[in-house]
Formats: sequence, structure tokens, C-alpha cells
Amino acid sequence: MKGLNIVVCVKVVPKNSEIRIDPETNGVDRRGVDSIINPPDKNAVEAAVRLKELYGGKVTLLSMAPPGLDDFFHQMMAMGADEFVLLSDRAFALADSYPTVHTLAAGIRKIGKVDLVLAGVESADGGTGNVPPGLGEALEFTQATYAEEIDYNSEEKRFIIHRMNGSGHEVISIPSPSVVSIELGVNSPRFPDFRRKLDLDENYKMTVWSNKDLELPEDKRGLSGSFTTVEEFVEAKKRERKHERIEGTPEEIADKLADLILENMN
Ligand SMILES: Cc1cc2nc3c(=O)[nH]c(=O)nc-3n(C[C@H](O)[C@H](O)[C@H](O)COP(=O)(O)OP(=O)(O)OC[C@H]3O[C@@H](n4cnc5c(N)ncnc54)[C@H](O)[C@@H]3O)c2cc1C
Repeated sequence: MKGLNIVVCVKVVPKNSEIRIDPETNGVDRRGVDSIINPPDKNAVEAAVRLKELYGGKVTLLSMAPPGLDDFFHQMMAMGADEFVLLSDRAFALADSYPTVHTLAAGIRKIGKVDLVLAGVESADGGTGNVPPGLGEALEFTQATYAEEIDYNSEEKRFIIHRMNGSGHEVISIPSPSVVSIELGVNSPRFPDFRRKLDLDENYKMTVWSNKDLELPEDKRGLSGSFTTVEEFVEAKKRERKHERIEGTPEEIADKLADLILENMN
């Protein structure tokens, strides 16, 4: 195939971090919770489609998820991707980041010869940031995280990454194949246009792979392959802001303020 064969890992997460843990399974309880596309994954899809427009090739979106999220996947496809592969099986459920990495890696190997894997820097629910570097390890690909911009040198078959580090702006070049995580908000994800949606309606075919297709051993998938379980999720209490007008002479106001500060120090 001419051009780049790019895979983008995408995830659907609870909206506004409305994370509820199902006490039965210790998994994320999605029932009755609004979901959204994980925000940095949209930036990753946008980066992939731009590379395809510049250098040709194909963009495949990949997600490990339960059934029933097709509308979100359709939206992402309408941004300019070519194929969607869903890894879905009860055997993949309740995975922490270790089996998530191995399940996605198995999916990427099954897709075939891949030049670049893109992902968001972190998810809005688990937020470990483990998956992209973990994929680099599992696939034995070079990996770079927190990319703000990515370009390709087709002669040298190397990717040029722009990113901020502790002391400033950094430009690095890494070989193909590589895994790169894309920072949130570093580009303007194109709106899934109507024409593409229409086109998708006619031609869109999602490939669904279960564990029959990936043949992952127990210690590399789902709860059985996980080292962590989320026992409880306690949302941080939102701080209440009180407004109080203090009246009086400057001295009286200063005294009242001092009293209030002392009162609230404990
Ligand atoms: C509140 C909470 C706390 C958690 N704490 C931990 C923990 O401490 N350790 C742990 O191992 N697990 C933890 N998990 C589980 C973890 O969220 C899941 O295993 C998840 O599938 C992968 O990790 P992540 O969301 O942190 O991914 P991250 O590494 O933060 O995600 C980065 C990127 O990887 C890609 N990606 C991640 N998951 C998928 C997927 N399913 N399909 C496609 N692409 C994907 C996306 O591009 C995403 O932007 C937690 C989950 C919750 C809800």
C-alpha cells in the first residue's frame, strides 16, 4: 500500500467524569450515564487524517469496548477515517491498563503491517496514561508521548515530533513503526461533515473481533489479566463559594476579616 498505514486507538468515556463504579463488578457502570468520545482521541484522529492527506495511506480506528457505542464510532469515522475495528468480548471486560494494552496490541498485529499507532495522552476516566507507552512496549515499537505536532519524513521513513518538555520546546525524530500519544487540544478536530456521514451510511462496515479472533490467554485479557481493580470512586467534593459583604469602618472591617480568617483556619 502506498502511503502510511495508521491505527488510532479511540475510547468512549463517561461525560463530565460521571464515573460510577458498579459495586457488583467493580467496573465502570455506564448505565444511564452520558458518554463522550475521549477528548484527546479526537486530536489523535485529526492528526492521523492530516498525515493521510499529506502522504496518502489509510486510517483505521481501533477500540476495545462493549457493544452499543456505534454512534460515537460513526462520528469519528466521519472525520475522515477509512475503517473501524472493534475489539469486543465479555472476556475483555473489567480490564485494567495491562490487559487493555495486550488486547489492543493483539488487534494491531491482526490488522497487519502498521507504520504508526496514535492514541490520546490519557483517558478522561481511568487517566493512567499507561496505554500508549505500554503499546510501544508490547509491540516493540519506538514510542513518544505528549506530542503536540507530528510530521513524516518519507525519504528517511521517520516521524518528526514537536512537544513541550520541562524546559521548553523539543523536536525529536523517531523511526517507523512507532506509537505516539497526542496531547489534548493541540489541533482543531474537523467536524464530521454531513457528506461524509451520508457516504458512511452507505459503505460503513465495522469489523468486530472477539477473543475467538485474538486468542488472548487469560493473563493478558480482562479481569483475569488485571493487577488492579477499582474498589470505589469517591468524587472530590466541589468547594462551595460563599459571598459575604463586610460593612463598617476600615478598622471594623479589618477586625471582622481577622476573626473570619481565624475561625476558618481550623
Ligand atoms: C477511576 C478509574 C481508575 C482507574 N485506575 C487504574 C489504575 O490505577 N491502573 C490501571 O491499570 N487501570 C486503572 N483503571 C482502568 C483503566 O482505566 C482501564 O484499564 C482502561 O481501559 C485503560 O486505561 P486508561 O483509561 O487509564 O488509559 P490511558 O492510558 O489513560 O489512555 C490513553 C489512550 O489510550 C487509548 N485507550 C485507552 N483505553 C482504550 C480502549 N479501551 N480502547 C481503545 N483505546 C484505548 C486512548 O487513545 C486513550 O486516549 C481505572 C479506571 C477507572 C474508571
